[in-house]
Amino acid sequence: MWPARILVVGGGTAGWLAAMMLGDAARRAGRPCAVTVIESSKIGTIGVGEGTTAVFRQMLKHFDLDEMEFLAATGATIKFGIRHKDWRRKGHSYDGPIDDPHQVAGLGATNALDLYAVSQGESVGQPHLFQHLLNKSRSPFARIGERLVPVGPYHHAYHFDQALAGKWLRSKARAIDIIDDQVASVNINSETGNIISLTLESGQVVEADLFIDCTGFRRRLITEMGAKWQHYGSVLPVNRAMPFWLDIPEGEEIAPCTLAWAQGSGWMWKIPTQERYGCGYVYSDAHLTPDQAKDEIEASLGHPIHVRNDIKIDAGRLDRQWIGNCIALGLSSSFLEPLEATSIHGTVVQLMLLSTLLDNPNDRSCSAFNVACSRQVDNFRDFIRLHYVSERRDTPFWRDVADATPDDLKHRLTRWAAKVPGPEDFAPFPMNLPHVGHHLHVPVLDGLGLLSPASAKAALAANPKLRANARRMSHALTTEYRQAAGRALGHREFLTSLQTETVP
Ligand SMILES: Cc1cc2nc3c(=O)[nH]c(=O)nc-3n(C[C@H](O)[C@H](O)[C@H](O)COP(=O)(O)OP(=O)(O)OC[C@H]3O[C@@H](n4cnc5c(N)ncnc54)[C@H](O)[C@@H]3O)c2cc1C
Repeated sequence: MWPARILVVGGGTAGWLAAMMLGDAARRAGRPCAVTVIESSKIGTIGVGEGTTAVFRQMLKHFDLDEMEFLAATGATIKFGIRHKDWRRKGHSYDGPIDDPHQVAGLGATNALDLYAVSQGESVGQPHLFQHLLNKSRSPFARIGERLVPVGPYHHAYHFDQALAGKWLRSKARAIDIIDDQVASVNINSETGNIISLTLESGQVVEADLFIDCTGFRRRLITEMGAKWQHYGSVLPVNRAMPFWLDIPEGEEIAPCTLAWAQGSGWMWKIPTQERYGCGYVYSDAHLTPDQAKDEIEASLGHPIHVRNDIKIDAGRLDRQWIGNCIALGLSSSFLEPLEATSIHGTVVQLMLLSTLLDNPNDRSCSAFNVACSRQVDNFRDFIRLHYVSERRDTPFWRDVADATPDDLKHRLTRWAAKVPGPEDFAPFPMNLPHVGHHLHVPVLDGLGLLSPASAKAALAANPKLRANARRMSHALTTEYRQAAGRALGHREFLTSLQTETVP
């Protein structure tokens, strides 16, 4: 049953996504509920230059929000994937395009295109449209006459400054009451354990039926409900982030991908918005002091940087995200290093799940949500840890990381070396919501040299018809997408044209 009053605490991206998506889902279910957001102009939001996944664009489409307006208003850029530099060894690079050409290949629920590429010793990115757009730094649109039309069927992602994206979402939100104040105390009914109301610093008392905690790292409500933090520190090797900005030189093409550049004791992100690059060194403070980290990044870049913050990363998640009538989302629910842009993606997916559970409630809704959210973030953690399986041993960090490879990851690597993973190797997420599966793992495994051409050849040899079809489709898609990328507008040209163009 939809609660009659939902109170969202926190006006960051998570808070505004929660208010919009839950309000909309209730309206669609014919159960309008009053949604209120409490945000504090005294407490800032986190904003470092964020990358998203394709679900953010799906969310815009769902709300009928204009993509071009979004890009123009927030200074966002297009993201086709992640370029991983120096992870396998220094001087080596690989890309993780986020589109999955198996969706259009007509080869059933298989990984046949991947098998074919691996068997031929070719990059698995070849039949991906986004790989070709990324190689040429193009946009996902071509000009036909006066119009801009998409060059392919896939959802791309974005890079943005979440402070601007959050502000834009706020401007689009309808029928939501906003209170600018801070939570001073959480009033809990000692018998039921539920939150009755919040007392704000102004003295105002606000009641609701469902409370959504989007207070970021403060976790202001859910901690009072008894949630405990499950630390990932023993699995993930980095624990600190040092954000900084870089200018985009005038006239320079803007790469439509996130750069994840491995360093001596971690890695650096470089995320373009239309204004600048949001960057940061994510490192292990067991191996570097902040001053050493700054020195190292300046040596890598060849010029000084201005450090904007020093963020401690206590990677992990809550043991329970939903307790009584309180649900935590966004940074208050989990946090991982931003290597695969899992945070905003995870929040959108959790909200899709939550909307469905509120629509069809039963006694197990709360535990189903908690099991799914925990699994989601644990799977993100394991996927991120995979990236650190490297040939590098050039610094104490990389040697320690190699020594600490978790046993379950070693087992998975052995399995994947014998069989290129496919859809059957990853359990679907509840309601078939987007999740990390074979299409994200394979480019990373391929890029790190962890897949075996012999096993791919053997798998195709067992099914000659599939092999022939995979070969044909692989060549056809590679040719088609190379041509499509040739037609597409340059990324910067497209972004510059946003004020005047229209897209269907
Ligand atoms: C270094 C770094 C890099 C990141 N990179 C990425 C990335 O590439 N991709 C990605 O998807 N995500 C990334 N993230 C995560 C992303 O920034 C967050 O998921 C997103 O911004 C949502 O944050 P939030 O809304 O949960 O919290 P916040 O942005 O911190 O917002 C918290 C809100 O709660 C309010 N608040 C706090 N306490 C109170 C109180 N007591 N009373 C009232 N209001 C209160 C604040 O005013 C604020 O409005 C990154 C995060 C960090 C730290």
